[in-house]
Amino acid sequence: MVPRTKKVKEAEASVALDHDKTMHTNIETINPATTIDSANAVTDKMEAVIEETTQGLEDMEGIGPVRLKKLYANGIYTVDDLLSHGEESLVRMLDISYADATKMTQTANESLMTDSVFSNLIVSGKEYYDYRKKKIEYMTTGLKEFDEITGGYETGVITEYFGAFGSGKTQFMMVAAIMAQMPKNRCCLDCGEDYPFKNTRGWKRELDNIDKNLIDLGVKTCNLCGGRIWSGGGMSEYGKKCRVIYIDTENSYRPERLFEIVCNRELIKTKEQSKTEIKQNAPKEPLNDEEYEKAMEFVYNIDISRPRTSALQMLVVSNLSSMISGDLCKKCHKREITKEGIPTHSDNPLVKRDKDGKVKDETLILEEHNFKKDTPAKLVIVDSFTGKFRKEFEGRGTLSDRQTKLSTHVKLLEGAIESKNVICLVTNQAQEALGVMGDNIRPVGGNVIGHTFTTRIYLKKPQSMSKDKITAILVDSPNKAKNEVAMELGPKGIQETSG
Ligand SMILES: [Zn+2]
Ligand SMILES: [Zn+2]
Repeated sequence: MVPRTKKVKEAEASVALDHDKTMHTNIETINPATTIDSANAVTDKMEAVIEETTQGLEDMEGIGPVRLKKLYANGIYTVDDLLSHGEESLVRMLDISYADATKMTQTANESLMTDSVFSNLIVSGKEYYDYRKKKIEYMTTGLKEFDEITGGYETGVITEYFGAFGSGKTQFMMVAAIMAQMPKNRCCLDCGEDYPFKNTRGWKRELDNIDKNLIDLGVKTCNLCGGRIWSGGGMSEYGKKCRVIYIDTENSYRPERLFEIVCNRELIKTKEQSKTEIKQNAPKEPLNDEEYEKAMEFVYNIDISRPRTSALQMLVVSNLSSMISGDLCKKCHKREITKEGIPTHSDNPLVKRDKDGKVKDETLILEEHNFKKDTPAKLVIVDSFTGKFRKEFEGRGTLSDRQTKLSTHVKLLEGAIESKNVICLVTNQAQEALGVMGDNIRPVGGNVIGHTFTTRIYLKKPQSMSKDKITAILVDSPNKAKNEVAMELGPKGIQETSG
């Protein structure tokens, strides 16, 4: 980092004052304190419901160790999982009578019929409005034209990309993994100065709500240091780490490629190129060691998980909340505390010790690792969501098994994404729908998962030889009308078409 001069600091201070003035003249007549409270009410209620519906099955009446084992083997861990299966499927899975299965679902249902669940299922119109206004953020897709038709990626929901092999799904994922790590605000990449103002959440709202006359969108270099201006739309604060969780089920994530995209997008300072190099679209290189390290930070901030089977993929997703919050130990990947609130590490403040510093409860087996909570993740990627399931459950005969598991899987994912309010992108394979005329490409998984994905984007490859061209079609979105944009796969991951 370049040391700031006194003069720059003074200039920043005076600009900051100006910002405050702008904020005060523009601020709406709402009481910020009550807004935040009612915005939090929605999250609190959501978490309460999830907690109640995801209670374990261990204590449920009528479930002994043998049944429990069978339920686990079928990906059923919670009351909610159990209720998402009909009696017929329980009969088949557990090899029990229909009467027993009915009894089981009845008991599970009764455990939910409490006032605490019901009262948390309802939020007031104001609470919900405030929640969306304060909490929902949008992230850039990494391409201006694409942002315009999609409105950017929204937090708290799942966005799906589907398309044939080679349609560039993974490129979109890698660009997103980079974009999440960029600052939210429009600011100078070299000194962090905001252009034009502070204290806003999410760049879309920023552009929608402010007096457009105040923005000088023409500014290309920083007034203070001459640095490059970033247009905003990331999920991070300037100079702060932003973690990304990347679940790579198809072995297609490449850190080397991600590094390349960072350089080619000039998110770090790069070496000047000769005319020939520019003409040949030669890859850009970091200016020096310091810039190389900055580019590598983008790679290091991504936590990768590579489950080899659908069962392991489900295991990862069922622990996603802890992964997002960052309360897993980097060494042993145990939580800071167990679900029962018991500490797992010796340096946890919850560990009770006697005067001599010895752990009081000798039955606790504690890890000695120096446990530190990680920064929360802001983006979760699952590439691909359905691939493992499709491979493992091949053929028509196992279709219903596959759909049952997919439905549990998607529910787990949805719960974590909504309660943690992060952005989630998943990729999906496409298949030809039989007996349909015209464009008959459909995403795998059918209605079971389709209705859970809030935004669906279809990546269409052209028939022609121009293999790098792609059309991204916004098929389904609550925010925007159906629309499409042509783009190209290239050095920047995704980019404008060159003609
Ligand atoms: Zn600057
Ligand atoms: Zn540990």
